[in-house]
Amino acid sequence: MKAKIVGAGIGGIATAIRLAKKGYSVEVYEQNNYPGGKLTAFEQDGFRFDAGPSLFTLPELVDDLITLQKEGANIDFPYDKLDESCRYFWDDSTQLTAYTNPEKFSKEVEKVFDIPAKIITQYLKEASFKYEKSSKLFLEKSLHKTSTFFTKEIIPALLNIYRLGLFETMHQLNSTKLKHPKIEQLFDRFATYNGSDPYQAPGILTSIANLELNKGTYYPTEGMHQITERLVQVAESLDVKFNYNSSVEKIIIESGKAKGLQVNGEVLSADLVVSNMDVYPTYKKLLSDQQQPEAILNQERSSSALIFYWGINREFKELGLHNIFFSNDYKEEFRHIFKLKSVFSDPTIYVNVSSKQTPQDAPDGMENWFVMINVPANIGQDWDVIIPELKKTVIAKIGNRLGVALEQYIVTENILDPRSIESKTSSYQGALYGSSSNNRYAAFLRHPNFHQKIKGLYFSGGSVHPGGGIPLCLLSAKIIDDLSPNV
Ligand code: FAD
Repeated sequence: MKAKIVGAGIGGIATAIRLAKKGYSVEVYEQNNYPGGKLTAFEQDGFRFDAGPSLFTLPELVDDLITLQKEGANIDFPYDKLDESCRYFWDDSTQLTAYTNPEKFSKEVEKVFDIPAKIITQYLKEASFKYEKSSKLFLEKSLHKTSTFFTKEIIPALLNIYRLGLFETMHQLNSTKLKHPKIEQLFDRFATYNGSDPYQAPGILTSIANLELNKGTYYPTEGMHQITERLVQVAESLDVKFNYNSSVEKIIIESGKAKGLQVNGEVLSADLVVSNMDVYPTYKKLLSDQQQPEAILNQERSSSALIFYWGINREFKELGLHNIFFSNDYKEEFRHIFKLKSVFSDPTIYVNVSSKQTPQDAPDGMENWFVMINVPANIGQDWDVIIPELKKTVIAKIGNRLGVALEQYIVTENILDPRSIESKTSSYQGALYGSSSNNRYAAFLRHPNFHQKIKGLYFSGGSVHPGGGIPLCLLSAKIIDDLSPNV
């Protein structure tokens, strides 16, 4: 049986591995001349940059795929568990280091903010509880099969429905539990891990903190791009064929069944088709003659991002691998992103410095900065005006906080913005995570991993169930594995 996959994003590669292991003969068609989609890297003037994701959680989901390699292939995937999860900076000179050990982190919060450590340990226990009770149902299974609701996993979720935080927003829940504006802000930030707004997203998303602050954050020994590289090797060990520079033009449907792809004018037959392309352009371009699920496609998009990749010709001891410089008005920042669709004048800035972990990513005595600001999805804002303004703001905010004139240290620069995210990966409006989770039904409103009317057509990746981010994209592949026919 032949499976054909549109796109070599992380969800496409993971699906290719699982279907090949199941016995399918798998070919992947990727429009770019490289795999990984958003999860790639590049080098510039002696600096190496991971282009997209920088935070790695749930490494066991990658390990799972590594174990599927062909016997004797000898592909390993080394990574380290990190002690620090993030360094947080506020303009008023407050600084807090978050640790991946919950007790150590709680004590640090007590030291810096005079909040009893037990408030944080209790909060993290609840985050773990919510995650454990809900993940089997919301993340690991299709929510679009009636059978899911007749499994034993549904019982813990239903029995604890009032404790899962489905009926209040993340911010409401955080302000009730934490009662300290800076710590509320820190925990509200987890909404951005799937491109959402803590003032609208349901409280169940407070469980995201469980990943970073209980289960821990990790780092592949050579950088994030290693995830893509190693998984492509695993797929190739199973005889998956990757076709690069191959833009898919159409998914061929005949008599209610997916029959193949059209690539460069050529029709290629298949028994099973998976689209790892964002679900919006999948319908609008590849399935344009089919009925369009407009309600799903028109959901609000997640946030996008503007990234400055900077080579910095000195080192900053104040910084760790992950750093956040918080806005002084978080609520206003999210109002700008989601309501006004514009960029706030005092944005929160994330700085990732992978050379802290892998010194060879920058020349001696220098650092590679990945500087990211959450911005609205692209609806035609004038980015050519916004970008230089934002650059000035970012330089001033970080510079003030670190007590330096930052611009003098920037020796090389590259920029990614919502338009280039869209053009490089076909992600509609440059959204990082498909649709936002800004309402309590969001989990049910994402597109299923299969087509409800067209047999043999499946969907993987961050724009479909269970959502965006590396772990969830990998889970979408697992669900397709569960749903697809055996060979
Ligand atoms: P994508 O990466 O969207 O790739 C889709 C692929 O399909 C692309 O290669 C594209 O070229 C190809 N394609 C599209 N159309 C066609 C076609 N017609 N024919 C052939 N090929 C086609 N996640 C985290 O877990 N941690 C983070 O720290 C994090 N940070 C992020 C920072 C940034 C700047 C970005 C952009 C994303 C970040 N994410 C993060 C999100 C994460 O990168 C994505 O959720 C994930 O990589 C998406 O994978 P995907 O499988 O949906 O495919």
